Amino acid sequence: MNKSTLIVLVSIFLMAFDNRAFFSNITEVYPLNLDNAAFLISVAVVFGAALIMILALACYRYTTKPVLITILMLSSFAAYFMDSYNTVIDTDMLRNVVQTNVSEASDLMSGTLAMYVILLGILPSLFVYRAQLTTGSVRRDILSTVKLASISLGVGVLTIVIFSNFYASFIREHKILRYYANPSFYLVSIFKFAGSAIESSSLPFTMIAQDAKAAPPERPRELIIMVVGETARADRFSLNGYERETNPELAKDDVISFSDFWSCGTSTAVSVPCMFSVYGQSDYDQKKAESTENVLDILARTGVNVLWLDNNSDSKGVADRITYLDFKTPENNPECNDEECRDTGMLTDLQEYIDAHPKGDILIVLHQMGNHGPAYYKRYPKAFEKYTPVCQTNQLEDCSKETINNAYDNAILYTDFFLSKVIDVLRRNTAEFETGLFYLSDHGESLGEFDMYLHGLPLFIAPEAQRHVPVVMWFSDNFSGVNDKALRAGKDRTMNQDWVFHTLLGLFDVRTDVYKPNLDILNISGPVKQG
Ligand SMILES: [Zn+2]
Repeated sequence: MNKSTLIVLVSIFLMAFDNRAFFSNITEVYPLNLDNAAFLISVAVVFGAALIMILALACYRYTTKPVLITILMLSSFAAYFMDSYNTVIDTDMLRNVVQTNVSEASDLMSGTLAMYVILLGILPSLFVYRAQLTTGSVRRDILSTVKLASISLGVGVLTIVIFSNFYASFIREHKILRYYANPSFYLVSIFKFAGSAIESSSLPFTMIAQDAKAAPPERPRELIIMVVGETARADRFSLNGYERETNPELAKDDVISFSDFWSCGTSTAVSVPCMFSVYGQSDYDQKKAESTENVLDILARTGVNVLWLDNNSDSKGVADRITYLDFKTPENNPECNDEECRDTGMLTDLQEYIDAHPKGDILIVLHQMGNHGPAYYKRYPKAFEKYTPVCQTNQLEDCSKETINNAYDNAILYTDFFLSKVIDVLRRNTAEFETGLFYLSDHGESLGEFDMYLHGLPLFIAPEAQRHVPVVMWFSDNFSGVNDKALRAGKDRTMNQDWVFHTLLGLFDVRTDVYKPNLDILNISGPVKQG
C-alpha cells in the first residue's frame, strides 16, 4: 500500500467513527433531510479533505506510522469524552488533564472508555502498524505528499466555493461546531497549550501591592476560614431556594447566602487561580496570573498566617509560596478509605495549628473535594445518602437524570455538613478571635441540561449551570468589620469571583492601592470598618 492510501483510509476512519459529537451537533442545526443533504455531504467532504491535508503534511517516510498511530490513539480518548459528556478539548481542558491526579483520572475510567480506546484506537493502530508501505525515494515521497495535500486542498476549496452561500453563514453563526471537530480542534489546542507553557516559563515573576500595609494590630485577632468548594451549583443550595432541603445545617447557623454570584472560568484550573488573582475575569490570563503575586502572597507579606489545606487535586499554583498541606493522603488525613479522603479530615488538626500561632491574624484555606464529578456517589459517606436511588457509576449517560441528581444533591448535603463543622471550629475560637467563614465554589456543573455533563466549556458558550456558584458567609457576633444587616440586604447583588481578591484584602484591613472597595463584598454597607 502506498502512504497516501493509508492516510486517506485513516482520515475516513477518523471522520466516520471519532466524530459522533461533531456530526450530531451539526445535524441539530441542520437536520438530516433532503434540503440539507447536499450541504451535510459537503461538510463531510471539506472536513475529510482538511484532515487528509494535515495528515499528508505531517507524514513523511518514517514519521508516517508514528503520526497516524498517535492521532488514532489520542482521538479515541477525545471521542469518548466528547461523546459521553459533550465536552470539548480546548486549552483549559488540556490544562485540567495535565493537572489531574491519579484518583481523579480513575474516576473517569470506565468500560466504555476502554471500548473506545480498543475499537477506535488500538485496532486501527494495529492495522496501520502492520500495513506494508511501499517506500520510494525521498523525491517520490515529497512528490506524493505535495500531490495528496494539493488535491485535498483543491477538493476542499472547490466544495466551499460551490456552497459558498451556505458556508458564509455557517462559519459566522456556528463557530462552536468547530470545537467538536476531531482531531483538528484538540490538535490546535495542543499547539496553543504548548506555546503558552513555553511563553509563561519565560515571564519574570512580578510582585504587586508593594505598598501593602497591615492595619494596626487589633484585639481580638482575626481567624478566617475560607472554603474553596468544588463543582457546586448555586441552584442546588436550599439556601438559594432549591426545593430539596440540601442545607439543613447551614440554615441553623443563620449564614448569609449570596444568590447571584458567577465564576471566572468553568474549570478548577481557571477559576481557582483567577479568584485569588489581581486580574479580573475580563483580563485574566493563566500566564500572567502564574507569574504575578496573588492575594495570599500579599496577606502573608503583611503578617497574616496563611495556611492552605488541599483535599482536591492541588492549589493550581496559588499556594506555591505559602504553607501547603496535602490531605489526599492518609498520612495527613485520618478520614481516608480505599477510594476517598473526606473533606472533614482537613479539620482534624486545625485547632493545633491555630494554637501554634499566637501572633497575627490567621487565614486558613480549605480546598474541598466537594461535588467533583462524575462519580458524585463517592463524594459522601453513606449516612448522607438521603436522596435515592443514586447513580452508582461514572458513566453518567447510563444513569437517569433523577439518579444523577440524587447523587449530586447528597454530595451537596455533605458539603453543608462540612461547612457547619467549619463554623463549629470558628465558634470554639471566638473568645480569642473575631472569626468568619467565606465559602464559595470554583465553578458549577452541567447535570444533563442540553445533554451536557460535567464542566469546562469555554466561558462564552458555557451554560449558566457551569458558571452560577454558591457563596456563603458567616461571622461571629464579635466581628467588628461587618454590617450584618446591610450585608443581608445586599445578598442578591450580582457579583463574581473578581470580588474575592478585594474581599480578602478588606477582611484583613490591608491598606494598598490595588484594593478596590467597590469589589469588596463586605464593603456594601459603606463605612462600617472600624479600627
Ligand atoms: Zn473545580
